[in-house]
Amino acid sequence: MGELAGAGEIDPREAAARRRLSEIGTVLPVVSSKGGVGKSLLSTVLALLLSRRGYRTGLLDLDFHSPSVHLILGERGEPREDRGLLPAEVRGLKFLSVIHFSGERPLLLRKEGISSSLLELLSTTRWGALDYLVIDMPPGSGDELLELLRLARGAEFLVVSTPSRLCRESVERMVRGLREAGARVAGVVENFSSSPSAWKGVRLLGRIGYDPELEGAVGRVERLLQTSFARDAEGGLEEYLRG
Ligand code: ADP
Ligand code: MG
Repeated sequence: MGELAGAGEIDPREAAARRRLSEIGTVLPVVSSKGGVGKSLLSTVLALLLSRRGYRTGLLDLDFHSPSVHLILGERGEPREDRGLLPAEVRGLKFLSVIHFSGERPLLLRKEGISSSLLELLSTTRWGALDYLVIDMPPGSGDELLELLRLARGAEFLVVSTPSRLCRESVERMVRGLREAGARVAGVVENFSSSPSAWKGVRLLGRIGYDPELEGAVGRVERLLQTSFARDAEGGLEEYLRG
């Protein structure tokens, strides 16, 4: 998939984006082939848990069409401009969301719009030295994912699924696709999990059960971290950190 030899038209923002991302220990995009499987909840909780463990952690909401992380955190903070863009500071996290740019307006971007906005965002944001940058991704394998695959070569993808065959099939396909593209797959987290399940060909990091208290904890970080969702997610995180 590399650039055509001699094409020469490389956007200078690409080098800047790669350089800025290379300052980050681990870029951890949370992805799934499906929507509504818990990516946003999981990425937010994982970032909070990593930060609580003392890791310097950033959280980036890249879901251009439906950003949710600011709702889960209950605040969005304000990024600042200073020789680039400094992310907001929220709950010990460096936080940046497409909501900071689109406000409450629905953001209807054409294809080129998303790639270009993403490049702009990644090339100008000064995360500084981070241990982890968790990225809440939109569902599917759209431009955000393809762009990230190009710019963050060392990223470790965390894939969210449900136990449903309808989800598992497409998630397994996504895992194969990521690997074919040369990406590293950290493993799968199975959400809405109710009974032990086996995953073949990909590491199962953890299972998260249905949590009736979760909705009431949206926007309240302390409460969120006390949910069974967060407890289950922490089990998955520990498995991931074990390497
Ligand atoms: P995605 O980002 O994949 O679209 P979300 O994180 O927005 O998914 O979650 C989708 C919906 O499902 C939200 O309303 C969320 O509160 C709910 N949800 C996710 N995981 C669970 C769970 N384990 N138990 C209960 N509700 C959940
Ligand atoms: Mg989401």
